[in-house]
Amino acid sequence: MENLPSIVTLASYFSRLPGVGPKSAERMAYAVLGMEGETAEGFANAIKDAKSKISRCPRCGLYEEGGACPICDDPSRDQKTLMVVTSYKDALAIEKSGSYKGLYHLLKGTLSPAKGIYPEDLGVDELLTRINNGQIEEVIVATNPTIDGETTALYLARRIEEGGKVKVSRLAYGLSMGSSLEYSDALTLEKAIEGRKDI
Ligand SMILES: [Zn+2]
Repeated sequence: MENLPSIVTLASYFSRLPGVGPKSAERMAYAVLGMEGETAEGFANAIKDAKSKISRCPRCGLYEEGGACPICDDPSRDQKTLMVVTSYKDALAIEKSGSYKGLYHLLKGTLSPAKGIYPEDLGVDELLTRINNGQIEEVIVATNPTIDGETTALYLARRIEEGGKVKVSRLAYGLSMGSSLEYSDALTLEKAIEGRKDI
């Protein structure tokens, strides 16, 4: 006997999740089938809600819910310091470290001429406009410690410093090259922010 069509469909969606293979996807589909009606409905609604209520903040590019950005709309944050990150999860990891109270700007990736990714693909002009029009005094570049991350940091530093008045620093890494910010522990991130260097 084969899986019923609805199970096949459900499992095919679970298999799109990171780290979920066909066997796990099938188990998950049967687990949903075994849920109480209310739980299954709540599960389905949670997916719908996440997609309909969460959007990108037009200022920083991070996620916001219900039109309010937890960073940009918080007046207690330091409005003069801007950290440039390349993924939402990197910003989340920095927030969890509790060692940074400024604003963020999400860059749409890292420069990689080898992969055909150039400054115009990353929204660098939007970043420069934000820096030049705002009250920003310091930009901390928090790209990953990889070759592409370094290339991006140096490029940004050069472009931002063309504008004159803004200090640019780079996270200091106790992290090894090639590692990812997202998977770094809070202490390492805290040290990296404290020990940031001018570039
Ligand atoms: Zn925002």
